[in-house]
This record gives sequence, structure tokens and C-alpha cells, in this order.
Amino acid sequence: MIKEMICVACPLGCQLKVTLDENDAVTNVTGNTCKRGVEYAHTECTNPTRSLTTTVKVEGGRLPVIPVKSSAALPKGLLFESMSVINDTCIKAPVKIGDVVVKNILNSGIDILATAPIDVCN
Ligand code: SF4
Repeated sequence: MIKEMICVACPLGCQLKVTLDENDAVTNVTGNTCKRGVEYAHTECTNPTRSLTTTVKVEGGRLPVIPVKSSAALPKGLLFESMSVINDTCIKAPVKIGDVVVKNILNSGIDILATAPIDVCN
């Protein structure tokens, strides 16, 4: 079977054609400009992952929310439940860039980190 997908490892967005055998193992990748496309195809066909960027509520800050991101790409199957955890989270100001907002989300080994600072509201 041949699967078509777009590599999202860089903005070029190469169109990949991925050949899978009867066990859904990747046997060939074409259309990639660099070897990262091959790695992307393997990951996408075995354990697809995505970086998660969103916002978290802040209590006592100058703004009501703060931008956050996952410390690494999360398995795609955990994204929906991760958003539920993040939506239920509220942190207290002040916050520094890199502060851990949710540690080891869903026991994935991945943290949710603040990507902007926020001061206390005066
Ligand atoms: S195959 Fe390489 S050049 Fe093409 S989108 Fe992926 S990372 Fe970028």
C-alpha cells in the first residue's frame, strides 16, 4: 500500500509517498528532500506525535492567560486528553519563561512549559 502525506518537519512541506508492507511497516519513502522526511514518515506511520501549543489560565496576573508548549512532541492519541488537563489548570502569577505548568502530563514524561513571562497584577 502507498500512503501519501506531507512532511511537516520543516516549512518546505515535501509531499511524501510512503510504501507499507502487509504488516504496515515502512519499506520505502520517496518525495523527501532530506532524510528527516524518512524519519517523519516512519514516526507518522508507527507513533505519530505532535507538539502542543496552547494557553493556560493565570490567577493574579496582568493577563488572564499565558502561552504554553509541550517540552517535546506528544503522541497524537494524548492530545485531546492533554488539552482537557490544560484547560482545567490555573497557575498563579508571577510566571517565568520555562516554568513547568503541568509536570509529566498524563504520565507521558513530557512537561507543559510557559513560553512567556507574566507579572503579578498590581
Ligand atoms: S523532507 Fe526534509 S526538506 Fe522536506 S519537508 Fe521534510 S524536513 Fe523539510
